[in-house]
Amino acid sequence: MTNASKTNIVIVGGGTAGWITAAMLGRYLGQVANICLIESDKIGTVGVGEATIPSIVSLNNLLGLNEAEMMKACGATMKLGIQFENWGNIGEQYMHAFGYAGVDLNALQFYHYWLKSLSEGLEPDFWGFSPNYQAAKAHKFDHVPPNKNGLSGLLYAYHFDAGLYAQHLRHVAESLGVKRIEGTIVDVQLSPEAGDIESVVLEDEKEITGDLFVDCSGFRGLLIGKALGVNYQDWSHWLPCNSAIAVASERAEPLLPYTKAIAHDAGWQWRIPLQHRLGNGHVYCDQYMSSNEAERILRDNLDSKMIGEPKHLSFKTGRREKFWYKNCVAIGLSSGFMEPLESTSIHLIQNHAAKLVDLFSSSSDWDVNAFEYNRQAIIEYDLIRDFLILHYKQTRRDDSEFWRYCRQMEIPDTLSEKLALFTQVAKLRRDPQDLFDESSWFQVMIGQGLIPKSFHPRAASVTKESREQIFGQIKTSIANDISNMPGHAEFLRRYCPIDETIE
Ligand SMILES: Cc1cc2nc3c(=O)[nH]c(=O)nc-3n(C[C@H](O)[C@H](O)[C@H](O)COP(=O)(O)OP(=O)(O)OC[C@H]3O[C@@H](n4cnc5c(N)ncnc54)[C@H](O)[C@@H]3O)c2cc1C
Repeated sequence: MTNASKTNIVIVGGGTAGWITAAMLGRYLGQVANICLIESDKIGTVGVGEATIPSIVSLNNLLGLNEAEMMKACGATMKLGIQFENWGNIGEQYMHAFGYAGVDLNALQFYHYWLKSLSEGLEPDFWGFSPNYQAAKAHKFDHVPPNKNGLSGLLYAYHFDAGLYAQHLRHVAESLGVKRIEGTIVDVQLSPEAGDIESVVLEDEKEITGDLFVDCSGFRGLLIGKALGVNYQDWSHWLPCNSAIAVASERAEPLLPYTKAIAHDAGWQWRIPLQHRLGNGHVYCDQYMSSNEAERILRDNLDSKMIGEPKHLSFKTGRREKFWYKNCVAIGLSSGFMEPLESTSIHLIQNHAAKLVDLFSSSSDWDVNAFEYNRQAIIEYDLIRDFLILHYKQTRRDDSEFWRYCRQMEIPDTLSEKLALFTQVAKLRRDPQDLFDESSWFQVMIGQGLIPKSFHPRAASVTKESREQIFGQIKTSIANDISNMPGHAEFLRRYCPIDETIE
C-alpha cells in the first residue's frame, strides 16, 4: 500500500548505485516518500568495482551497518592506500596512503619541514612519517583512532565484493520498506507538456508511475540519456583509457591491506585482495593497444591462478552535463564515469545519494533543488577529474606512444594552476569541495617526481636539530603503534572471517 500524501520515488537499477541509493533514501526519506526499485535479472549489473576510499566508512555508519558483519558478508579486507608502480617512471613506486603524514608545526603543514630537510640533502623518506604507509608495508591493521600522539591514526577503506555489498544493502533497504520490482523496462513515458518522466513501462506491460525518478541504470543511462537526452561531456582527451578487462584469481599471500595500480604500456592493472580471492583488471586505451594484447598482459601479470574467464568492458570517461534534470536524478554510471584509478565511483554514488536526501523537498517543482544539486556535484566531479589527470600528466615515461601522449596533452586550467603554484612555492590550493586533501595531492605529486622549487620560508623557524628530533619522535611513535598491531590476515580472521560458502 502506498501513502498518497507521500512523494513516489522510483529507482531504476539494482547495481551498487541502485541499492546504495535505495538504502539511503529508505533510511532518511522513508517517512516522507514511497520508494520502489526496479531491476532486471536479465540485464544484470556491470559486475566490477571492488576498491573503496575512507568515506565508505561514513556511509556504513549513516546506514547503521555493523562493520564486522558487512565485511564478513562481502569477503572484505582493509585498504590503507594504493600503491602505484611504474607511473613516474618504469621501476619506480610510491603509495597514495590515506590519512596524514607527520604532524603540523606552528600551523604550517608538515611537508614544508620535510622539503626543508630535503633541500639540506638529508633525503628523509616522506612515507616514513605516514602511519598508513608503515602499517600497509608491515601488512598490519587495527582500528587506531585519529590524533593519537598527534598523528592521524589509521584511516581506512575496504576492498570488497561489490555484488555482495549491493545484496547486503538490498536487505537493509527492503527492511526499511523499499519495494523491489523485478522486470525489464522497455519504454519511458514523458508528459507532453513539461517533458517530465511520468512512468516506465515493463516488458509485461505493467506501468510504474512516479513523482521523482532516480536513474541507476548504469552505462545505458536509460532515463537521463535515452529518454531525456541530457548530453554527455566526453573527457577522453584528458583521461584516454576507454576499455577494461576484469578477472578474478585465487587468494594470494600475503594478504595486502592496499590496492596495487601497476602501469603498463597503454594503461594500468589493478590488483585488489579480498579474503577469498584477488580481483584483477587491466584498464587501457584501445587506440594504443588491442584487446588481445591487453588480455595477454593481464594474464601474464596475475599473481595467482585465474578463476573463470576475463570480462571485457568499454567506457567513455566523462559526465552528464546535468545530473538532476526535470524529475530525474542520475546516480552511478548513468551519471558519468571516471576510470577506477582512485576508486572514486562508489564514493560519488554515496555522495550523490546523500545530496539527494539533503536537497529533497516535497514540492514537485524541483528546478531550484536541481540547480543547487548540479552546482555542487559538478564542482566535486571536476575536482576529482583533475586529480586523476595528474597521475597521467605527471609522468616521465616516454617508452610508449600512450605515455608520450599523456606527457604532452593539454590539461584543464584548474589543474595547470595547481601544478604551477606547487612547483613554484610548494603551495597546495585546497578547494573546499575537493574530495582529495593536501596529503593526497602531495603524495601523488612527489611520488611521480614533482619536487617543488622552494618551500614556505616559515619552515626555517624550526632549527635543524629540533626538526631532526621531532622527525625521530614521529617515527618512533608510529613504530610503537605498529608493533602492537596484529597482522592484517590475523585481524580479519578474528574480526570478520568469511563463510565457507562465499565464492
Ligand atoms: C572497469 C571498472 C572498474 C571499476 N572499479 C571500481 C572500483 O574499484 N571502485 C569503485 O568505487 N568503482 C569502480 N567502478 C565503478 C563501479 O563498478 C560502479 O560505479 C558501480 O558498480 C555502480 O554501477 P551502477 O549501479 O551505476 O550500474 P550497473 O551495475 O550496471 O547496474 C545497472 C542496473 O540497472 C538495471 N537496468 C539497466 N537497464 C534496465 C532496464 N531496461 N530495465 C530494468 N533494469 C535495468 C540493471 O539490471 C542493473 O541492476 C569500476 C567500473 C569499471 C567499469
